[in-house]
Amino acid sequence: MKYETVIGLEVHLQLATNTKAFCGCSTKFGQRANSQVCPVCLGFPGSLPVLNEEAFRFAIKVALALNCRIQSLIKFDRKNYYYPDLPKNFQISQYDMPLSYDGFIDINANGGTKRIRIKRVHMEEDAGKLMHPEGEDCSLVDYNRGGMPLLEIVTEPDINSPQEAYDYLTKLKSILEYLRVSDCDMEKGSLRCDANISLRPKGEKKLGTKVELKNMNSFKGVRSGLEYEEKRQESVLEDGGKLVQETRLWNADKAVTASMRTKEEAEDYRYFPEPDLVPFVVDKNEIEEIRKALPELPEARGARFKKEFALSDYDADVLTSQIDLADYYEACVKLYPNAKVVANWLMGDISAALNDKNIKVTELGLSPEGLAGLLKMIDSGAISGKMAKDILAESIETKAIPEDIVKKKGLTQISDAGAIEEIVKKVVEREVKTVNDYKGGKKTALGFLVGQVMKESKGKANPGKVNEILKKVLGD
Ligand code: ADP
Ligand code: MG
Ligand code: ZN
Repeated sequence: MKYETVIGLEVHLQLATNTKAFCGCSTKFGQRANSQVCPVCLGFPGSLPVLNEEAFRFAIKVALALNCRIQSLIKFDRKNYYYPDLPKNFQISQYDMPLSYDGFIDINANGGTKRIRIKRVHMEEDAGKLMHPEGEDCSLVDYNRGGMPLLEIVTEPDINSPQEAYDYLTKLKSILEYLRVSDCDMEKGSLRCDANISLRPKGEKKLGTKVELKNMNSFKGVRSGLEYEEKRQESVLEDGGKLVQETRLWNADKAVTASMRTKEEAEDYRYFPEPDLVPFVVDKNEIEEIRKALPELPEARGARFKKEFALSDYDADVLTSQIDLADYYEACVKLYPNAKVVANWLMGDISAALNDKNIKVTELGLSPEGLAGLLKMIDSGAISGKMAKDILAESIETKAIPEDIVKKKGLTQISDAGAIEEIVKKVVEREVKTVNDYKGGKKTALGFLVGQVMKESKGKANPGKVNEILKKVLGD
């Protein structure tokens, strides 16, 4: 390719506080429209905002986890624009002195790590939600979301491919989930991403004209939108055309982007300091307190998993990418210390089931105790590995405890030598031809005989023992 792709991402994160950013209204999701509003978030004249302390502490937490520097003087600004979802006609945000700046996230790229710099993380409030009911001659507005606390997390234009954008978002979400400051649910709109993309001839220092993409509702959507836009821009440039700075909407159904508006400039918003919130200095001790209380983050946990449980880079990465999965894994290993075996089950059959059902490990019917019990039954010879897979599937389906499934169905594996020998003899008498082949030197015939014994035992015989006893009976 003749061009280098340049991408910068802006993520909006809804903070999971109980009340809104500047008033006492509830933030509970999915309530009756306009039931969670008050004079402050509706912008009645004379009402006064008060900063939500928890939102502020959450914001500091995120800033520290993203390696940002914290602004010593905290100031809020008004961003002015008129739109029906914004009853105040301005949004409280932060303009020239963001809460924090100069951070970074390292992502895996090209077999190494790549640092994506974070330009700023600032606080602001959300707007209401407009609805355009199909077939109706009206639009509706719900102000419950208006005034909810948001963080805006903006990268430098350090991302060079749609896949890197995807990896950055995945890593960012992983960190945010560890901090437990948001449910990070893109479907509910708690996490939203706008993507800026431009191309420039390889080797060129100056950035190209950027296009801002909106309306992607999954990380895959962001990647697809960027892939489309990368090609579109390339063909415009190849045809000798010029790109215009604009905002384009991603249409997931048609898999295209379409122009929404030419880009507004900062001047259009007439930013000025919010006169109703006095600037204040952050207490350094408070920041240090929050820093000390930060949880172990995905990278640190991955490194510990590698050391403590002797996992590969890949396994440690996968298992620590989601805090719930990492917690589940550690809980299992406490109960069943063969860490590698637990990792294999979690990353194999269990992950497949989670993907299949599109649920999180916390929603799985199988507890760490249940999984540990299952693995112990394999070790004791009570059940075979194959039986364990079936029991696992049933346990996930019915939420029944594996040990109970085994008891109820009488599934116990036959390990008793006498019982196995009886079945073996029966098979050997019946399969005369195969037995003769085997005795005549065709060693592969043994596999068939083992299969027959397993079948005869309805899959319950211990395969190791079957092998052993068969050879004995055949005089090997
Ligand atoms: P604006 O003032 O238009 O919002 P910012 O400087 O705040 O622009 O940048 C918004 C986002 O766009 C950032 O993530 C930044 O890295 C990215 N960005 C800026 N210029 C470009 C460009 N030419 N190509 C791609 N991304 C860019
Ligand atoms: Mg911006
Ligand atoms: Zn309110």
